Amino acid sequence: MPQLTRRSMLAGAAIGALAPLAPAQLKAAAPAAGKQAPSFYRSKIGDFEVTVISDGAVQIQVQPAMVRNTSIDEIKAALAAAYLPTDHYWNQFNPVLVNTGSKLVLLDAGNHASRSPTTGKLREGLAAAGVEAKDIDLIVISHFHADHIGGIRTADNALAYPNAEIMVPAGEWAFWMDDGNMSRAPASGPVRNTFENVRRIFGSIADKVTKYEAGKEVAPGIITIATPGHTPGHASFIVASGSGKMVVQADVTGNPAINLRNPGWHTAADMDGPMAETTRRKLYDMVAAEKMPISGYHYAFPATGYAEKDGDRYRLVPVNWNPAL
Ligand SMILES: [Zn+2]
Repeated sequence: MPQLTRRSMLAGAAIGALAPLAPAQLKAAAPAAGKQAPSFYRSKIGDFEVTVISDGAVQIQVQPAMVRNTSIDEIKAALAAAYLPTDHYWNQFNPVLVNTGSKLVLLDAGNHASRSPTTGKLREGLAAAGVEAKDIDLIVISHFHADHIGGIRTADNALAYPNAEIMVPAGEWAFWMDDGNMSRAPASGPVRNTFENVRRIFGSIADKVTKYEAGKEVAPGIITIATPGHTPGHASFIVASGSGKMVVQADVTGNPAINLRNPGWHTAADMDGPMAETTRRKLYDMVAAEKMPISGYHYAFPATGYAEKDGDRYRLVPVNWNPAL
């Protein structure tokens, strides 16, 4: 068997580059697509069909302020260890659709169409997966950041899912709809923006929104769990059918290379860093011990895998793409 060495590969490349192509081998160049197709990924949890749908992604510049309690060099090393660029990363958004057999339940709603040309792709993804917006029965929200609630409304601010009941964590509603809390927020910046956006999204439908206590089952097989820290009322979901169970963790971690791999890191996105860390370790210890599949809103598409314990850290093992359901 020929030995592949760096030298033989370079020599081969050079020979390839020099060999002239016969005219019959020349093909017309196809234009580059320049974008991904609408992306969705299905798996089965018991009798439920779970579909992760990409709402797109935005590029984030890597900055020292991204993590409060580590250095920029450590952040870059963590990204490099995950084979990612160290100057930026793509923050991805992955809502989850659960077909329970009797209901279509959307867990989080993606970004508002106005955010960027590379986000707000959820409805396109749903259509590609054969689901029309009017068919969604229930939207369950994890928390009130704009990348999770913006897509409740269309570009012209109509309700994007006209027949869906909307359920939100009571703790999020209590915190973000409180005008006193809003008055104490900095005059500008992400927290102020969130208070204002929450009012834009929910203000005119306040009496139609159902507030749920985390810990309750909000639909058959969809159990909410309190996972505070990222925001005060942040909730995650356990999707359970038969012997199958999956955790949909929303923003308990963001990019796995950052604070799944380094659960002690307190990111700028976590409003209460120490509480977010406590929540993270508790949830991931449970998921690792029970070998449960887990879906993360900001994991790389298809945003599903298994978390392994690695000392006092975790490692994400991405799900194996499954051709058959
Ligand atoms: Zn988020």
